[in-house]
Amino acid sequence: MRLKFYLISLVFTFFSSVLSAQKSLDTVETDFGSIILYSNKTWSLYNKNAFNGILNKRVHRLMTEEQNGNFTNKWNNDVCFSTRNDLSKLKDTIWLCVTDEEHPDFVMPVPGVVTSRYGFRSGRNHNGIDLDLETGDTVVAAWSGKVRYAKFNDGGFGNLVIIRHYNGLETFYAHMSKLLVFPDQDVVAGEPIGLGGNTGHSFGAHLHFEVRFYDSPMNPEEVINFDKKYLKSENLFVHKGLFKVGAKPSSVHDDNAPNENKVVQNKPATIKPQTKYYRVKTGDTLTEIADRNNITVSKLCQLNGIKPSSVLIPGKSLRVK
Ligand SMILES: [Zn+2]
Repeated sequence: MRLKFYLISLVFTFFSSVLSAQKSLDTVETDFGSIILYSNKTWSLYNKNAFNGILNKRVHRLMTEEQNGNFTNKWNNDVCFSTRNDLSKLKDTIWLCVTDEEHPDFVMPVPGVVTSRYGFRSGRNHNGIDLDLETGDTVVAAWSGKVRYAKFNDGGFGNLVIIRHYNGLETFYAHMSKLLVFPDQDVVAGEPIGLGGNTGHSFGAHLHFEVRFYDSPMNPEEVINFDKKYLKSENLFVHKGLFKVGAKPSSVHDDNAPNENKVVQNKPATIKPQTKYYRVKTGDTLTEIADRNNITVSKLCQLNGIKPSSVLIPGKSLRVK
């Protein structure tokens, strides 16, 4: 009787797996969203497009307010400009935390010198800043955030990565030879996102780097000192003046300017340059990763905004220092 039951269930299992190879077995919550596990040992992301793009509710509420200009900000993986907002019509001044306690790090995207600045150039506005590099050099995320766009752009950017950050800013990394991230991926400041190159409308390898807010470009030198390589301030006051064509960086906030009177080395080249990342391999556990990197599991969780119970995704980078 027991054997008969076993045979029936075996036959049933066989036919059900043949008939519905995509039968879902379980759903696992991860940092990427819900992953559905199928009976044929494949998986897929369940709520891949469920993210609404809002990483900062306070800023989004202010930006969408009627009295401020009624701006929108979509989450679109397919087009580089998700909405065309004209922020020179912004009515209020909005305070952003460029870095905050939860996302404290800034890392220069590449260490190269400036080869072209923001502003009017060859009859049109140069919406970013160009930084020198060699093809194949690693390009890293300036701040932590979520990848909105990662693909070849035939509008001139070439291989382009766009990261939306937790304060509502977006950064563009263009002309790369290779992309190392994919849309909807979470990245941390300093994490490699691509290799530098000369793709798209580019003459010689360089990184074209843009800082945008609700799709409108601003002078990246408003927030970063590219010559001395540091973040100018943890705060940014966004007002319509920042979005005037060719706007020069305002000199009012440069809280982190090195004090020239002090004898050197009181500022590192980048803020917190000793960050270190580990790429998760199949079978890794948080305890093992923490042990190997001489930190506690709770510190590891705190650095990455995860819980001890979080499921580790092979291939994803974790900050370990
Ligand atoms: Zn450029």
